[in-house]
Amino acid sequence: MITSEAIVVGAGPAGAACAFELKQRSIRTLVLERSLFPRHKVCAGWITPRVLDLLDLAPERYPHAMTRFDRLLLHLGGPALAVKTCQYAIRRYEFDSWMIARARVPVHTHRVETITQEKGGYTIDDTYWCRYLIGAGGTHCPVRKTFFSSPHPRSEKKRVAAVEAEYPSNCPDRRCHIWFFHDTLPGYAWYLPKAGGYLNIGIGGKLARLRKQGRTIMDHWRRFIETLYLRGLIRSMPPAPRGHTYYLRHPNPFPRIGNAIVIGDSAGLSTLDMGEGIFAAITSGIAAARAISNHTALSFDRIPRFSLPAMLFQPWNFK
Ligand SMILES: Cc1cc2nc3c(=O)[nH]c(=O)nc-3n(C[C@H](O)[C@H](O)[C@H](O)COP(=O)(O)OP(=O)(O)OC[C@H]3O[C@@H](n4cnc5c(N)ncnc54)[C@H](O)[C@@H]3O)c2cc1C
Repeated sequence: MITSEAIVVGAGPAGAACAFELKQRSIRTLVLERSLFPRHKVCAGWITPRVLDLLDLAPERYPHAMTRFDRLLLHLGGPALAVKTCQYAIRRYEFDSWMIARARVPVHTHRVETITQEKGGYTIDDTYWCRYLIGAGGTHCPVRKTFFSSPHPRSEKKRVAAVEAEYPSNCPDRRCHIWFFHDTLPGYAWYLPKAGGYLNIGIGGKLARLRKQGRTIMDHWRRFIETLYLRGLIRSMPPAPRGHTYYLRHPNPFPRIGNAIVIGDSAGLSTLDMGEGIFAAITSGIAAARAISNHTALSFDRIPRFSLPAMLFQPWNFK
């Protein structure tokens, strides 16, 4: 049996931030991750300045390409609205590898299947044992499934379906565009050119409302591609997109049962307006590690519910 004081399941931003913080606090930590990194993660890779603050990361110190946007072009039906802002974009393929390497903890490539509670802790797949178990496995996290799903089910109304494609492109327009409610999409669509010669395009919308419309996210994707083509933002067919579903923020997220904790997408923490999940993933990971180390209560109630106020109403937008 391989034992560790804490085991984190999943090495995305939530798991990596938690592992980093546990290590800082001298708690012996092991990460179990099913994929070999670097791995693709379905995501636009947009991050806000508050993510950089949390990681104490100056953009010039990041070892990969990071794009800065001083303006966003918002499409709300009429002419595009150019809004001053300060936002960043990374590639998740690079960012997640960088984050887990930064934690400097052992990572075992292992898909967690079965978890049982025994000997004052948790046994995983008859191979691993830990006192503290942190579920950072995203939407389908096995820690969530085992301990939280039945007492604290997630609301299907909060489930978002999203697809994106990220590929090498000589983007005809280097600006970031966002379309709200594009052609009845119950969500938004984006065109996000990235440094290093990549373009990320995608759409996301509430799954329950898509079902009510009788349309799939792929129906909306095809219409969005048409719009991009007609506007001259893409010149050829993009590769087939990849999709994923995740949950927007619960009003009172329930993160802990005994010494089992869920963080990030496993806890359902993405913002209600933009589905921004990276900030909440990192914040919840850090908070979980602090609660374990300080023997204090854990709450995610103060993690922001919305992204737009911080995006649009920053002081520098008005300078
Ligand atoms: C199309 C799309 C676009 C998005 N765009 C943005 C954006 O631009 N900005 C933003 O802030 N948020 C965005 N999000 C949301 C964001 O991607 C997530 O909120 C964020 O990745 C959550 O991080 P996490 O660490 O909780 O989970 P994840 O990033 O999903 O990481 C979970 C990890 O757990 C591993 N894992 C899963 N199951 C197991 C298992 N059984 N055993 C071992 N390992 C396991 C997975 O391989 C994965 O590496 C987007 C989401 C989608 C779908």
